[in-house]
Amino acid sequence: MRPERFDSWLKVDAKGLYCRPGGFHIDPHGAVRRAVVTHGHSDHARSGHDAALATEETLAIMRARLGKGAPRRPQATAYGEPLAIGDVTVTLFPAGHVLGSAQVLIEYKGKRAVVSGDYKRSADPTCAPFALIPCDLFVTEATFGLPVFQHGDARAEVAKLLKSAGQFPERAHVVGAYGLGKTQRVIAILREAGYERPIYLHGALQACCDLYEQFGVRLGALRPATGASRDDLKGAIVIAPPSAIADRWSRRLPDPVTAFASGWMRVRARARQQSVELPLVISDHADWRELTETIAETGAEEVWVTHGREDALLHHIETTGRRGRALALIGREDEDQ
Ligand SMILES: [Zn+2]
Ligand SMILES: [Zn+2]
Repeated sequence: MRPERFDSWLKVDAKGLYCRPGGFHIDPHGAVRRAVVTHGHSDHARSGHDAALATEETLAIMRARLGKGAPRRPQATAYGEPLAIGDVTVTLFPAGHVLGSAQVLIEYKGKRAVVSGDYKRSADPTCAPFALIPCDLFVTEATFGLPVFQHGDARAEVAKLLKSAGQFPERAHVVGAYGLGKTQRVIAILREAGYERPIYLHGALQACCDLYEQFGVRLGALRPATGASRDDLKGAIVIAPPSAIADRWSRRLPDPVTAFASGWMRVRARARQQSVELPLVISDHADWRELTETIAETGAEEVWVTHGREDALLHHIETTGRRGRALALIGREDEDQ
């Protein structure tokens, strides 16, 4: 029997990546009959699906964020539990990206395809660590798919924040962080570093923090920033969505030091442009080394690349003797970098 080419059963159609023998889309960008959803970020977890398979955590995030747009027929599955869907077997494995994030292993006619969603390999106390799944086809993101991106140790970045907070006890430190994943990771690393004071939150971040707590991720004392006195906020750490750190919202804080936790903070010009005084290179995506090492370790003969900036990675893939392909998926513009 001649092996089927991957693109004969995994196709890109108008809604995104579609597994024909399983009859489902993976992270489609529009409403579909049946979806497998890797994680709760808005560029992956869209509203209006009829059936959706995901981890329990991802389904809870979708309910909290999408309300009526959450899947009508949610199906929760645990990591590592194989499920027969149509003619394929689907198993989710941790992606190490945010709470509940999963890679999707699809087995069909003796071939193994892994759709990794977004992933990282570095330590994150708020989610299960990335699992390496040997496969024949690996579908990878490439958010930071350039050699210049090296994220380093998030704990060292948080240590910079603590040092600055100690040096300027009269000033608030406002940290821009995306609401799902980054916020909780920064808080958890602060706690690991022994920081026990209350951490103040912009109102938009509360619901996701509550969700993490419900799933057993301890974040310590959190207080709403709105309503806190200026005295309380002196020397305090305040977390806010990136859009809020430069706007009127942060002007009420006492002489704020502006920080931003993002993989993009490796690019100094970007930090300057956004008036970030204290750039913190903390990313929930793989950097160049993690991407290239992961691709090699999976043993995949073929690699498909999503999330833009794929040229350098495709070149690398081809020089290592693998087949590479850029997947033109619509709507992958991350909220979580
Ligand atoms: Zn994501
Ligand atoms: Zn993404």
